Amino acid sequence: MTVRVNDSCIGCGACESICDAVFSVDGVAQVNDSAVGDNMDCVKEAADACPVSAIEVE
Ligand code: SF4
Repeated sequence: MTVRVNDSCIGCGACESICDAVFSVDGVAQVNDSAVGDNMDCVKEAADACPVSAIEVE
């Protein structure tokens, strides 16, 4: 799985609240790639919760 945050991110912090092992927000959301594999459930939850659909999971 590849997780990416696209340019739509508004830095709201929701993804970090839901899945802080993977997402950290510093202006915009950053992805900790090495944590994705163990945290797919919360990655998907964060992607669904993102208000601007900026989290792309492939
Ligand atoms: S939830 Fe979406 S808009 Fe908010 S910080 Fe995360 S990626 Fe950006």
